[in-house]
Amino acid sequence: MGKLLIVGTVAFDAIETPFGKTDKILGGAATFIGLAASQFKLDSGLISVVGGDFPQEYLQMLSERNIDISGVEVIKEGKTFFWSGKYDYNLNTRETLATDLNVLADFNPIVPENYIDCDFLMLGNLHPSVQMSVINQIPKRPKLVVLDTMNFWMDNTMDELMEVLPKIDVITINDEEARQLSGEYSLVKAAQKIHKMGPQYVVIKKGENGALLFNNGDVFFAPALPLEEIFDPTGAGDTFAGGFIGYLASTHDVSFENMKRAVIYGSNFASFCVERFGTERMIDLDQEEIQKRLGQFKQLTQFEIELTH
Ligand code: AMP
Repeated sequence: MGKLLIVGTVAFDAIETPFGKTDKILGGAATFIGLAASQFKLDSGLISVVGGDFPQEYLQMLSERNIDISGVEVIKEGKTFFWSGKYDYNLNTRETLATDLNVLADFNPIVPENYIDCDFLMLGNLHPSVQMSVINQIPKRPKLVVLDTMNFWMDNTMDELMEVLPKIDVITINDEEARQLSGEYSLVKAAQKIHKMGPQYVVIKKGENGALLFNNGDVFFAPALPLEEIFDPTGAGDTFAGGFIGYLASTHDVSFENMKRAVIYGSNFASFCVERFGTERMIDLDQEEIQKRLGQFKQLTQFEIELTH
């Protein structure tokens, strides 16, 4: 069984979209990644930090989904990371209203002993020095290291981010972030520049416009499924990443061909995530729905058409 270690935020989010507004609800990159990855037969463990204000029932919920939470530190006198964001009708762009690092500000991740030999490592969106610290605690290089990041860290910690990029295999970012990181508008040129920073594979997520996978010259595209219900895109990127690495870890195959399948699995999970606020949809997702929607994905993209004459 693949052993997957996930590091990232476990958080409170407050979200506003044209379709509604929430108070503090469960969020965080690692939460979404873990929930998606938990749909595969894997040994997955999570490293994060929360405050004394974090409900035990949320941790229990993750644990019940076979996610090992022994690496989630609880700082009783501290407050949990809080993020708040607002979307308008273009759900592909959002405004961050608040990022309160709280306990995350002094987070010193410790890799639990039983995950030191993990073969898949998912570095969720976090301070790049924290991501680096996790890499440094794992003596034997995992089969695959995937990193996700965002504009917040590019704005504030670009130098540290540039030091981590040579140590990873795959970066997953959205189109705006790819442009910010590379200084290129064309996503093809952006991917070329990002390859040079380290990662062999570059995944660029374009929200409802699908996702691109670049491998030095080769490119694969998967559309997003056109959906009837879209409530809240928060966590879609992390859910994509969790589905992507979860599939690769469960199949133990990191070839480019298999990564194409992983992109489809990731997109499939993300399509569920956006149907409700926060983690709501991911929590009650079942295998039957997942398989059915994979079939819809196949239908959507499979065509036999004569293009030459
Ligand atoms: P996504 O929509 O996939 O980009 O991720 C949304 C999640 O990322 C939310 O649940 C937030 O709690 C979390 N998040 C937002 N800002 C940050 C940040 N600067 N660092 C780490 N996690 C963040």
